[in-house]
Amino acid sequence: MNAAGQPMENIDDHRIFKRNDREPDPGGEYVLYWMQTSHRFQYNYALEYAVSRANELDKPLLIYEELRCDYPWASDRIHAFYLEGMAGHKDIAEQEEINWLPVVEEEGGESRGILDGLFDKACCLISDEYPVYFIRDRNNMLAGELDIAFVTVDSNGLIPLGLTEKAPYNAYFFRKIMQRHFVECFTSPPKEHPLDELEKRSPLNWTRRQKEIRQESLDRIANPTGFIATLDIDHDVAPIGLEGTRRAAVGQLDRFARHSLKRYDDKRNDPDANATSGLSPWLHFGKISEYEVVKEVLEHQPEQWDLNNITFNGGSTGGFFNGDPNVDSFLDEVITWREVGFHFAHHEPEYDQYESLPGWALETLEKHRDDPRDYIYELEELAQSQTHDELWNAAQTQLREEGVMHNYLRMLWGKNVMQWTPNPEIALAYLIELNNRYAIDGRDPNSYSGIFWCFGRFDRAWQERPIFGKTRYMTSKSARRKLKLDRFLEQYGHRD
Ligand SMILES: Cc1cc2nc3c(=O)[nH]c(=O)nc-3n(C[C@H](O)[C@H](O)[C@H](O)COP(=O)(O)OP(=O)(O)OC[C@H]3O[C@@H](n4cnc5c(N)ncnc54)[C@H](O)[C@@H]3O)c2cc1C
Repeated sequence: MNAAGQPMENIDDHRIFKRNDREPDPGGEYVLYWMQTSHRFQYNYALEYAVSRANELDKPLLIYEELRCDYPWASDRIHAFYLEGMAGHKDIAEQEEINWLPVVEEEGGESRGILDGLFDKACCLISDEYPVYFIRDRNNMLAGELDIAFVTVDSNGLIPLGLTEKAPYNAYFFRKIMQRHFVECFTSPPKEHPLDELEKRSPLNWTRRQKEIRQESLDRIANPTGFIATLDIDHDVAPIGLEGTRRAAVGQLDRFARHSLKRYDDKRNDPDANATSGLSPWLHFGKISEYEVVKEVLEHQPEQWDLNNITFNGGSTGGFFNGDPNVDSFLDEVITWREVGFHFAHHEPEYDQYESLPGWALETLEKHRDDPRDYIYELEELAQSQTHDELWNAAQTQLREEGVMHNYLRMLWGKNVMQWTPNPEIALAYLIELNNRYAIDGRDPNSYSGIFWCFGRFDRAWQERPIFGKTRYMTSKSARRKLKLDRFLEQYGHRD
């Protein structure tokens, strides 16, 4: 359905972005799919599109996946997670007999020569649409530079990025769009195994250099710890206990759906309750698709429930899925709250700039810019949990050591930094740095949604207070009154 409620010709067209005017070259050797963000061979619209182009052109498919060593915030943590994911792909590529070229750099720039060689012989390039981080800029740059057809495909969420016409200014606005289109989007899912449909599987003739780098990369994937230690990346941000594979993602979803979903509505704000899904790391790296998560969770609606029970409720929270309140509550997070950030960044190139905050927030923060602050901390004091606030320090310790932080504490974490820095621009820069350096799900559209939310994005004006102005106010004191945090503080507090 379109915004006026009329069915659309093909909802999937809104996922496809033609990045230049070129047509695929039938004289090329293969169709090239560059897996940049949707790192999975299942439920992947971009891969599905690449397979259909390869079949149409009667060409083999080449799937290219790289890990550079000079990306922003490069660290042992991100590298280890990413390489585990790549190891899983090696097995699938062998089983499926597909042309998969992994390139794992040892030195910055190694992959560039390889890519140029690949572009030269490709009929066209297909890649992932992604609205933030260096991926956004790289796609834009390639669009201007490439002399082969270039298409990006959005496999990020359920509601295609091309469906919204402007940046949604709050969740209510986006939820209304989501509610109008949910059934149509959910019933036109990505294929579970798009590679099953690939017709031409003939192996490609790799050049000598391609063979060499492929073998070197496979060796690096097989021995990630030794290899990572040799790189010029941030070794202070250590690997964590989560495994970066699709198998781990699917297992996490299964455990959540079976054990914690039933407590989600009641307990999701309680860090001690362990009632949230913990899926954001795998969603971020594209190891699992949002569609699969939604599908699995809908299986837990009451027995008689079907899609006809869905009730458009004008964008309100709760009730739309009209069954188990836990399902409603979880799907509001994973669809509305997750996707509002993707759609916002898609339409707003300045998504990571202070000036992109709503006018009311800029005005009120400006008015309170010079309010006195009781505490001021430097970035590295914050990074090392050296503040006066035990709860904040514990949350930062968990983030630094384990790469994750509970959503409620994340809000509190951000709000506190606003009052411990000389001005809001510095607070914003510190939060982006800390989040993207340590969080395994960082560098995501939701990193920017969450951080900018602290400063008023997607929110409304509240009662005016010092420093915060009319942006929402949260303190550790009230959190400690409201929440049970004993276990959390025991585990992460007092680490001097
Ligand atoms: C300051 C701050 C920084 C944040 N940085 C990130 C980040 O770097 N990466 C990231 O993915 N999320 C970020 N968030 C949003 C949110 O905290 C996490 O998505 C959530 O805590 C992930 O835990 P979970 O998977 O157990 O969530 P669940 O509660 O199980 O929710 C399921 C999924 O829904 C989505 N979701 C849930 N809550 C939110 C939310 N408030 N906003 C957007 N999406 C949501 C996530 O994809 C999540 O995995 C941030 C929030 C704040 C306030």
